[in-house]
Amino acid sequence: MTDRADDVLGDLEPSKVRVRFPPSPTGLLTVGNIRSALFNWAFARHYGGKLILRIEDTDTARNTDEGYTYTYNSLRWLGLNWDEGPEVGGEYGPYLQSERMDIYADVVAKLLAAGKAYHCYCSQEELDQRREAARTAGQHSGYDGHCRNLTPEQIQAYVDEGRRPVVRLRMPDRPIVFEDLVRGEITFLPENLGDYVLVRANGYPLYPLVNPVDDALMDITHVLRGEDLLPSTPRQIALYEALADIGVGSGRTPRFGHLPFVMGEGNKRLSKRDKGSGLGEYMERGFLPEGLLNYLALLGWSIADDRDVFTMDEMVEAFDIRKVNSNSARFDPKKCEAINAAHMRMLPADEFASRMVPFLAQGGVLPAEPSADQLAVLNAAVPLVQERMNTLSESVDMLGFLFVDDAQFTIDPDAAAKVLTGDAGAVLEASAKALADVEWNTEAIEAALRASLIDGLGLKPKNAFGPVRVAISGRRISPPLFESLELLGREKSLRRLEQARRTTS
Ligand code: GLU
Ligand code: ZN
Repeated sequence: MTDRADDVLGDLEPSKVRVRFPPSPTGLLTVGNIRSALFNWAFARHYGGKLILRIEDTDTARNTDEGYTYTYNSLRWLGLNWDEGPEVGGEYGPYLQSERMDIYADVVAKLLAAGKAYHCYCSQEELDQRREAARTAGQHSGYDGHCRNLTPEQIQAYVDEGRRPVVRLRMPDRPIVFEDLVRGEITFLPENLGDYVLVRANGYPLYPLVNPVDDALMDITHVLRGEDLLPSTPRQIALYEALADIGVGSGRTPRFGHLPFVMGEGNKRLSKRDKGSGLGEYMERGFLPEGLLNYLALLGWSIADDRDVFTMDEMVEAFDIRKVNSNSARFDPKKCEAINAAHMRMLPADEFASRMVPFLAQGGVLPAEPSADQLAVLNAAVPLVQERMNTLSESVDMLGFLFVDDAQFTIDPDAAAKVLTGDAGAVLEASAKALADVEWNTEAIEAALRASLIDGLGLKPKNAFGPVRVAISGRRISPPLFESLELLGREKSLRRLEQARRTTS
């Protein structure tokens, strides 16, 4: 093993790497979540370790059944498989936090018994007042430690008043320093780290408790997550250390790598409400999972200076968390499409054809199980469109005209208004004549149309072929014209030329 690997793993054997992806099952995976999942997955696969899927669903009011299924299906669609978690099991379960409530209660009891945590009886008003006073006096305004060392009599008095306490972690009175795998050494000073709440007065365990407790119990070795969570890291580190002291969990503090923010329009952080942030959009538009993941990998990482396009196998091979850039990354929808287009071109033709089928079916152009004839036309069309499409859903507009019958076929009104005017009637009539009994292959079709329209009528190619294209495809932009005519067949082509000619007169 190289020295460089040693600073990521320390003396950990590579196969002992355990990382986690802990989404809340609120239904929507965003590109930011997916990038975190991807980096954890690539990290686990690179070292031959394990990726754990843990569902952070203690906030049951926000969870829906579909939220869980959607999360699992999304990850499966992306190909980000997990080694332990819901649906696959594992030795460290349950993997839904909602099923771990007893565990948290038990851990909290142990923290309290060991004095690592304590009950705080302050009311909201008291906290607000003291915070305001501290602020006026120019002091730090976090929790002031009022209940850290209450006497038994003071506690009894609060209990008699009927107050219900929260539980706070007793933070160490020293700086918390750690080596972030992306950002280098980071120091947090104790005056900025007040004792924080682990459990609400109603007994509800909070994220800053359950997330590190599960990391400790699930023997997580590395935490790779968004920069937005950086402020909670020193508090979590204090908790891992407290847990180690009382013998709960693995005893280790995971190493951290905080991934850069993803910025959207106007250099603002991409939020889950922004267009382009939800995975559903990419599935509907027909992105390839490998294309989307390749682009998301570029939000903070690159495989080489002069290279943007790579496979997931190549990413796994090359992935190095220390090469992740700490500067925020800009989400560029155009580039995302271009990377996807590059992956579309890399597909073998038959694979490309079969990936288009669900989109053509969804668009009402093909049945879900196309006939052998339809598949033959689709396969023959692949070379005409594979280089021209950015996403699979574009196949509906590009290729629909080859499959729809006369009754379904329509001409885009805008294309008709712009192109099927003036001489178009004469052009279409001459085309129909030229094609009536020519041999039906691309070269012969092209030769016949050129002879008739360009040599015969003296038209420029644009004016000659534009109306023919609109007549047969219904659009101004289509796959290459002569090949399209060949695939459409003589009879349908002649009927469409005639139908379009009638609309021009
Ligand atoms: N459930 C948290 C989130 O999705 C997990 C954060 C973490 O990775 O620690 O934001
Ligand atoms: Zn208090």
